[in-house]
Formats: sequence, structure tokens, C-alpha cells
Amino acid sequence: MGSCLSHENTKVENSAKEKLKNSKIIFVVGGPGSGKGTQCEKIVKKYGYTHLSTGDLLREEVSSGSERGKKLSEIMEKGQLVPLIGSPTLLLYIDAGSETMVQRLLKRGETSGRVDDNEETIKKRLDTYYSATEPVIKFYEGRGIVRKINAEGSVEEVFEEVCTHLDALK
Ligand code: ADP
Ligand code: MG
Repeated sequence: MGSCLSHENTKVENSAKEKLKNSKIIFVVGGPGSGKGTQCEKIVKKYGYTHLSTGDLLREEVSSGSERGKKLSEIMEKGQLVPLIGSPTLLLYIDAGSETMVQRLLKRGETSGRVDDNEETIKKRLDTYYSATEPVIKFYEGRGIVRKINAEGSVEEVFEEVCTHLDALK
């Protein structure tokens, strides 16, 4: 699942649509446990982007049992892209190996209270992730906006790499 950061450049527009049109939108994509949430939090602090976690939004909508939630989970189960907000300016691909992701998720599972942070479910989430994300990354590679970040290092090391790409946007 991805994360999305949007940045308002101007404060004069009135509708939400107008706002999005004038915003920089950054997609943050990576496997479960790669560190997307952690990096997004740091990006928000440093750059003032608004963070929309697509995973959190979807989990909320789906668990509410609403019609919309049902439609969205059907789309996700087919491995298709859920329509969300708009075209990204940049896609940050937070790239960690599966061993690393599994270790981070198991550790997170000790305290997160997330029922999906357990070994059987993690394996499935990784498979889903790879099949669902590859086409997305390919698509945006074609547009030249994918920046691959080595996510094996420490939180600070990864963030440094993230910053070089965001700074280049200014
Ligand atoms: P995601 O949102 O991609 O699923 P999280 O940001 O929730 O991943 O990170 C998963 C777990 O790994 C969390 O417990 C987090 O504290 C930890 N973590 C994140 N980045 C790193 C890192 N670079 N090195 C070690 N642990 C990390
Ligand atoms: Mg997350």
C-alpha cells in the first residue's frame, strides 16, 4: 500500500479540487515494513506536506463495512489500483529486501496492535505487494518520475536520500 503527500503552493484557491491542482503530490511506495510511514512522518515535519496514508484510509473505509469500502476491497483483491487523488509529481520507491521487511514487521507487531503484523499474513502481504506494485512502478518509470531509495540503512540514512530528491523539486 502506498502513502501520498500533497503540498499546497498557494493559499488563494477555494475548492479542494483547485487545491490539489496546485499541489505537489508525492507518492511514497514500498512494501509493508519498508519504512514508508516512518519516512512520511519525517517529510511532514521537515517540509510541511500533508500526509494521506492510503493504507490507513482504505483500512478505515473497509472496516466500516460501507458500500464504498466493499467496492474498494474488491478492487484491491483483484490487485488493481484504487483510484485516489491525482497525478504525482514524484514517486519515491522505498526499497527494502523482503528479509528486512519481515524482520521490521515482526518487531512492529510486538507493539503495534495491528492484527496483520504476524508471520503468515506478512508472507501474503509481501506477495500482494510485489504483484500490485510492480506495474505501478513500471508505469511511472515510463513518465520518468520514479526515484528509488535504498531503505536498508538507518532511518536517518534513508531520510537523507529522501531529502535529496525532495530538495531537487524546489
Ligand atoms: P510501512 O509504513 O512501510 O509499513 P513503517 O514505517 O511502519 O513501515 O516501519 C515498519 C517498522 O520498522 C516500524 O516499527 C519502524 O519503526 C521500523 N523502521 C522503519 N524504518 C526503519 C529503518 N530504516 N531501520 C530500522 N527500522 C525501521
Ligand atoms: Mg505504514
